[in-house]
Amino acid sequence: MKATLLETRELAPEVRHFLFEVPEAHQLNFKAGQFVSFNAVLGGKKITRPYSLASLPSGNRFELCLNRVQEGIFSPYLFDMKPGDSVETTAPLGFFVIRNPAKDGLFIATGTGIAPFRPMVPEYLQNPEAKNLTLLFGVRFENSIYYRDEFEALARQHPNFRFWPTLTRPETTWQGRTGHVQTHLMEALSDRRDLDVHICGMKAMVDDVRGVLKELGFDRKQIIFEKYD
Ligand SMILES: Cc1cc2nc3c(=O)[nH]c(=O)nc-3n(C[C@H](O)[C@H](O)[C@H](O)COP(=O)(O)OP(=O)(O)OC[C@H]3O[C@@H](n4cnc5c(N)ncnc54)[C@H](O)[C@@H]3O)c2cc1C
Repeated sequence: MKATLLETRELAPEVRHFLFEVPEAHQLNFKAGQFVSFNAVLGGKKITRPYSLASLPSGNRFELCLNRVQEGIFSPYLFDMKPGDSVETTAPLGFFVIRNPAKDGLFIATGTGIAPFRPMVPEYLQNPEAKNLTLLFGVRFENSIYYRDEFEALARQHPNFRFWPTLTRPETTWQGRTGHVQTHLMEALSDRRDLDVHICGMKAMVDDVRGVLKELGFDRKQIIFEKYD
């Protein structure tokens, strides 16, 4: 089916939020955390790239959070799209969804790996069985804490939700957490080993965090992850 671009807005340099629509709402049945797979013929070749849905299900519209990869193929093509342009997409796919909403949760993202958590956090918190949830979000700079206002508002509304951004290149004015997400993993877990951990971002971070969790005795089923590369 075709997804038509309605609008974009800049989240940070080279990172944008995109709003698309498809012809019919029923074509977009999905769970928070799933992705769509876009394809286009570029340079004579059919290229396919998956993108996490960065919005809760809402009629025939969906949102994405995209990074322009310099020297990349598909992301520059998407950044060049204008409102009214369309791209071929699959229906939503994937298994990176909240496994057990009645368990305490830890969500870990870096960069645009935050995309699936934008709908997963409110979906988790809306569940009447919801327990405690921490979102640990690593970026370089303070202006790259995408959707900061939304996550801070959710943390104010839900005492069971902690939003922990951490910066690897903080300005001297930054009062919050610093360093990689791994630095804050033990504090986020405290001495708990019974929660589910969902991780999304680039392979190096995801594999590193998975390794630590396995050493701590986490079962494979408790570690749910999505790698972007
Ligand atoms: C399930 C899944 C969901 C994804 N969801 C998103 C998403 O929501 N937002 C998003 O921006 N990307 C997402 N990606 C990555 C996306 O599919 C593409 O790989 C990315 O847009 C680069 O494609 P490209 O053709 O421009 O670059 P390519 O020519 O394919 O170059 C790939 C290079 O880009 C790097 N790369 C891949 N993704 C990123 C990224 N996000 N930031 C920085 N470097 C990256 C890889 O390490 C690799 O070196 C997802 C990937 C998967 C597997």
